[in-house]
Amino acid sequence: MTTITQVKKYLNYINGEWVSSSRGCVERSINPANKNEVVGLIQSSTEEDVNKAVAAAKRAQKKWRSLSGTERGDFLYKIANSMERRLDEIAETMTKEMGKTLPEAKGETMRGISILRYYAGEGMRKTGDVIPSSDSQALMFTTRVPLGVVGVISPWNFPVAIPIWKMAPALIYGNTVVIKPAQEAAVTAAKIIECIDEAGIPTGVVNMVTGSGSIVGTAIVNHSDVNGITFTGSNATGKKIGQAALARGAKYQLEMGGKNPVIIAGDADLDLAVEGTISGGLRSTGQKCTATSRVFVQADVYDSFKEKLLERVKEITIGNGMESSTWMGPCTSENQLNTVLSYIEKGKGEGATLLYGGERYTANGAEDGFYVYPTIFDDVTNEMVIAQEEIFGPVLALIKVNTIEEALTLANDVEFGLSASIYTKDIGTMMSFINEMDAGLVRINSETAGVELQAPFGGMKQSSSHSREQGQAAIEFFTAIKTVFVKA
Ligand code: NAP
Ligand code: MG
Repeated sequence: MTTITQVKKYLNYINGEWVSSSRGCVERSINPANKNEVVGLIQSSTEEDVNKAVAAAKRAQKKWRSLSGTERGDFLYKIANSMERRLDEIAETMTKEMGKTLPEAKGETMRGISILRYYAGEGMRKTGDVIPSSDSQALMFTTRVPLGVVGVISPWNFPVAIPIWKMAPALIYGNTVVIKPAQEAAVTAAKIIECIDEAGIPTGVVNMVTGSGSIVGTAIVNHSDVNGITFTGSNATGKKIGQAALARGAKYQLEMGGKNPVIIAGDADLDLAVEGTISGGLRSTGQKCTATSRVFVQADVYDSFKEKLLERVKEITIGNGMESSTWMGPCTSENQLNTVLSYIEKGKGEGATLLYGGERYTANGAEDGFYVYPTIFDDVTNEMVIAQEEIFGPVLALIKVNTIEEALTLANDVEFGLSASIYTKDIGTMMSFINEMDAGLVRINSETAGVELQAPFGGMKQSSSHSREQGQAAIEFFTAIKTVFVKA
């Protein structure tokens, strides 16, 4: 067992310096593959620390926004290069801290690097339009200005990609940043901040304060000098943040949960559909906001799809994400494991048939990790809790439908609208799906969990505050439009 004295302590990053929290308290960040392994000690900060970070970000604002986009972009390229040099270290930290497999962690880190380079390039692209004035002697155009200080509050499931897809556009458009990463992944976040520091970003432009959401997160959201808040996480937290931001007139952006459906049409390529359902639903232990969780299958192929799915799920190897033989790692925390297990109990209680899994995985000495079997429920009906609430774990609910129309009606009959997919060869079915599916991301013959950094990403209904992140859509949140009228 690791002793606490051997464990590295990670600090807050405020005004270009690594500092302890004002009350000097630390917490352990533990490895979900083995709860006895402490990955690092992280600061448990207070409102006072947030105040210092916001003051630093505010002081840095004027100079940072006065740089050209190209100059700010150069810093993003340097951060990307620093992350690239430390790719293995960052990915291993992520796997040890939150459990996803090493190849997934590497892929995510590479994604983070690409996002930085994409937004570095955005610093040279157009930010406004010329609009003909009714006065022939005047020039009228729009330009974009930064919001000021942006608060970033991020979850643990993509601990590199999400902080970066928020910070990179914030920075390129001239904002300064105070980030509170999820405590469950705060060591991984510290590694990104180390890269930002190595890149020589000016003092105060990026600040990180770690600690609980209820203390540090709340302090950021309520701070009168934080001009915009970008949040990704659960609906319960998002709603609170949105209300608090609205009450003081701050701009906010919320990306939240999903209950993403896949529809398997009668004419689908069943092998492809099974692969997409397994990968979409169970990769990252189902802990993706875009993870597949409801599987609507047309009656004529229901049994053969189910059989193929079952065959494939039995092959899944569970274990420590650091081992190359592992396909699926643990849940990220004990809390998360307990939530998943309680939903499995609910499913059984509601009368769904447990087809596979449904319990903790403790084989091969895994009892010190937060492992659960991939779980498949059969005979699910759409009003069951397991078909309506986000589980955020490796649980699939199979629902039999007679027609595509019925599948679409049921797929939409849920409060979320993040991502959805369909497997079919019929163009008419594809068009109905594109037109009728209420989701921010609709994918055909491809799994629900696929996001490209250059395209807008975000949900409908309760999944989002109806804004979009990533690609060129990010400019809408991170800037304000100024309309300029010039008469010589
Ligand atoms: P969460 O519990 O809502 O936490 C998200 C972040 O908010 C964490 O940093 C958390 O701090 C902080 N927080 C908690 N309470 C707060 C408060 N009162 N005020 C301000 N901040 C507060 O979500 P999670 O469990 O980390 O992440 C899983 C959720 O994220 C799922 O619902 C998933 O669907 C969603 N998600 C959505 C997307 C998307 O783009 N749509 C992407 C990924 C994940 P702590 O350190 O204390 O937890
Ligand atoms: Mg952990």
